[in-house]
Amino acid sequence: MVARARTVALVGLEPALVTVEAHYGAGLPGLHVLGASGTAAREAADRVRTALQAAGVSLPLRKGILSLAPAELPKQGARFDLAMALALAEEAGAVPGGALDGTAAIGELALDGRVRGVGGVLPSMRALPRAGIGRVLVADEAAAEAELLGGTRVVPVRHLGEALALLRGEQPPRAVPRPPSEPARRTIPDLADVRGQLEARRGLELAAAGGHHLLLVGPPGCGKSMLAQRLPGLLPPLDRAAALDVAAIRSILGVVDPDGPLLDDRPPFRAPHHTTTAAALLGGGSGVALPGELSRAHRGVLFLDELFEWPRPLLEALREPLEDGVVRLARSRAAVRYPARALLVCAANPCPCGGGDRCGCAEEQVLRYRARLSGPLADRLDLAPTVEPLTAGDLLEEAPGEPTAVVAARVRAARALAEERWGSGARNSEAPASEVRRTADRRALRVLADALERGELTGRGFDRALRVARTVADLEGASTVGIDHAREALAHRLPLRSAASTPLGAGT
Ligand SMILES: [Zn+2]
Repeated sequence: MVARARTVALVGLEPALVTVEAHYGAGLPGLHVLGASGTAAREAADRVRTALQAAGVSLPLRKGILSLAPAELPKQGARFDLAMALALAEEAGAVPGGALDGTAAIGELALDGRVRGVGGVLPSMRALPRAGIGRVLVADEAAAEAELLGGTRVVPVRHLGEALALLRGEQPPRAVPRPPSEPARRTIPDLADVRGQLEARRGLELAAAGGHHLLLVGPPGCGKSMLAQRLPGLLPPLDRAAALDVAAIRSILGVVDPDGPLLDDRPPFRAPHHTTTAAALLGGGSGVALPGELSRAHRGVLFLDELFEWPRPLLEALREPLEDGVVRLARSRAAVRYPARALLVCAANPCPCGGGDRCGCAEEQVLRYRARLSGPLADRLDLAPTVEPLTAGDLLEEAPGEPTAVVAARVRAARALAEERWGSGARNSEAPASEVRRTADRRALRVLADALERGELTGRGFDRALRVARTVADLEGASTVGIDHAREALAHRLPLRSAASTPLGAGT
């Protein structure tokens, strides 16, 4: 006789149903795990056997085999423990045959039999309804997350003994535990706090309206981070599908904030430091790669402060995922993809000393410093507003800046025009170049063509500037991209070219 339990493996965000088979046969007493490799399998066997003893199940003194199928699927972590224990329990007669039908289990076991939550429960749930599984046993702390998707009855279990009692029908399932009070929503700081900075504010508005990547250039302490932190407030709230994607990435990493809402409709804001590793930024780790900061910023903002301090290979590695909206990671066990549709906001000092009036940097020093921003990455940034040092006048200014709500309303209106044109969810930054050209008048195209001839724009830069011009027009409610829209887009782009090739504001 063979007992079967169901659980779920994750390869990136993709769930796959796993069947655990337990069998006792002739041979020396011991527990062997097939279909999982290395120390993980040995450790799982020890945990599962000890936890079953703690739950009062005595296993036969024969050779036990646990088989996890499909065998070729990478299986990482301790998430299969609970299902393994339940299959063994049924095989040993500790629960009635058939008690596990239509049921899956996801959870790690402690040696004393306690059930522990694991990362990635939310994305795992997608595998269950399509496999006809209507019930899932998970740890208490993962239960609310497991319920988000709906369609599966979630049964919280604290201890293996509780799971066995439930399956024997000796006790009814408990309700999914709820937080004692409504969790606090993360607050995004308001643009009203920013005085002056008209150029940078315009840059933020265009970035939010069209999905264009942005570089803020200015001396230290002028408020670049302050501006970047306010960008998520200008983006439209996430719809349910997007919020679920963002939550699934956090779930895999096991960083579901216990005090925050499980499903957050606010666009994420991630600000990794320039000493961060490639694995932490793009995703990585051994076996099956985990998502990095770039994917945690999916549907929100990735802020890279002190851009020129970042190692050049790391910046280069960002280019392709930013272009495709997805990051591909190949590791020994599997190749995975994680979503990476983030708005990139970079900040940089104009020169190594920070710039400003007392800058004494030699031109060559400035050039070397700026060369860290490669031409190709600069070509993927669209807006480079200058952030001015605060003046005494700004500090004395009584009137607050335009609040986030007002700017966000204009962004919404412009995005609605873009979606009418390109389809639901589409942004100008992603629109096909030929289509955008069709919405521009000849004089607007001439402005950009002249810049191309002067060597101020690359071919890619031409189309990207045109997309920004499209956003300028949308913010005005204009159906055709006109000459002024093109001029503004070009002006926003030119400092990037200088940043990549020639010094800016360093005595030239
Ligand atoms: Zn300097």
